[in-house]
Amino acid sequence: MISKPIYLDFNSTTPCDPRVVENMLPYFTQHFGNSASKDHFYGWQAQEAVDDAREQVAGLIRAKVDEIIFTSGATEAINLALKGLAENTQGEKTHIITCKTEHAAVLDTCVYLESKGFMVTYLKVNEHGEISLQDLEKAITPKTLCLALMWANNETGVIHPIDKIAELANRHNVAFFCDATQAVGKIPIDVKHVGIDLMAFSSHKMYGPKGVGALYFNQNSTLSKIIPHLHGGSHEWGLRSGSLNVPGIVGFGHTAKLCRTEMATENSKLVKLRDRLETSLLTNIPGSRINGLSTRLPQVTNLRFPEVNAENLLLSLSQDLALSRGSACSSNVQRPSHVLKAMGLTDQEAFGSIRISLGRFTTEEEVEFTIDKLTTSILSLSPAQQ
Ligand SMILES: *Cc1c(COP(=O)(O)O)cnc(C)c1O
Repeated sequence: MISKPIYLDFNSTTPCDPRVVENMLPYFTQHFGNSASKDHFYGWQAQEAVDDAREQVAGLIRAKVDEIIFTSGATEAINLALKGLAENTQGEKTHIITCKTEHAAVLDTCVYLESKGFMVTYLKVNEHGEISLQDLEKAITPKTLCLALMWANNETGVIHPIDKIAELANRHNVAFFCDATQAVGKIPIDVKHVGIDLMAFSSHKMYGPKGVGALYFNQNSTLSKIIPHLHGGSHEWGLRSGSLNVPGIVGFGHTAKLCRTEMATENSKLVKLRDRLETSLLTNIPGSRINGLSTRLPQVTNLRFPEVNAENLLLSLSQDLALSRGSACSSNVQRPSHVLKAMGLTDQEAFGSIRISLGRFTTEEEVEFTIDKLTTSILSLSPAQQ
C-alpha cells in the first residue's frame, strides 16, 4: 500500500525521523529546564542534553563543539554569517562574491547589504549550473570580504567544487562562507579538511525538526569573526542570545547522529532509485532533459519536459504526487526559477521543469508509481489542454 499523495519533495523539507521525535519528547515535559539555568537540576539536565547534541552536530561536520552556534534554522545562520561579517569589517572590505544560483536566503541578504553600501558580484553559471573558478578568482579584489557560495544547490543538487573554492579563498585571504543546508547529513563533510570559515545548515532538511539550525564558525580563523545581531544573555558564545530551543536541539543532535551512521547505505539506495526514475522518464518522454547534469547530490533530479506547464501538471497530479517546481521559499512567486534561468533556460523551459527529490522513506514502489503517473500524464497532455 502506498500512501498518497507520494511525497517527493525532500529538498524543501523532510519528515522527522520517528527515532528523532522519540528522543525529543521528554524535553518538552519532564526535562523542560532552561539550559542557561545554572542553579538547579533542571537547568543542568537541559545543559547536558544541549552539550550532547552539540557534540553530535559538530561531529557530523568534523568541527569542534565550541564552533557550533545553534540558530532557528539556516536562514538565520546565513543572515548571522553575512551581516555579522559585514558589520565586523569597519569599512575596509566592502565586496562580496556570491553566485546567481544561491538560495534566496543568501541572495536577499546580499541585496540588503548592497543597500548598506556593499558591492556584490553575482557569478554566472554554465548550462550545467557550474561556476568557473577562473571567473571566481578574477572577481576577487583587495576589497573582497567574503565568498558566499553554497555546497549543493537545492533545486538541481549540483555540487560546487568546495575544496577548490576554499583553496582560492585561503590563498587570497578572504573569508569563505558556505550555505551547506542541502549537503550536511547527505554527503560526507569535513570542514577542517576543506578549510571553511563559516557554514550554515538546518535540521529540517535532514530528518530533524523545523526551527533549528546551526552556524559553524572556525575558531582558528581570524576571517570568521562576526558581530552578533541578537543581544541579551550571551548565549552561544555571545553570538546568538536567547534561551535555547532544547527539544529542537536534542532532535537536531539525534538526527545528526543517525545521518552520520546511515548516510552511506542510504545514499546507495537513493542513487539507484533516482537513476531508475531519471532514466525511465528520459526514455519514456521524448525531448525531456536533465537540468544540471554535473556532480550532484544522490537524491534529487531536476527534469524539463517539452510543451509542459509544470504548475498545471503538478496541480492536476496533486492527489497522487507531491513534487515541486523549484525552491519552496520562492514558489509562491509566479516567476521562473532563478536557478534555471541562470543556467540559460528560456522562461518556457524553466516553467516546464520539475524537481523530484527522494528521501529516507522513499520506496521502489513509490518510484515506479511516479514513473507511470508522470509518463501517462505528460504524454496525454497536448499543449492546448494545458
Ligand atoms: C532550505 C534551505 C535554506 C533555508 O533553511 P531554513 O532552515 O528553512 O531557514 C537555505 N539554503 C538552502 C540551500 C536550503 O535548501
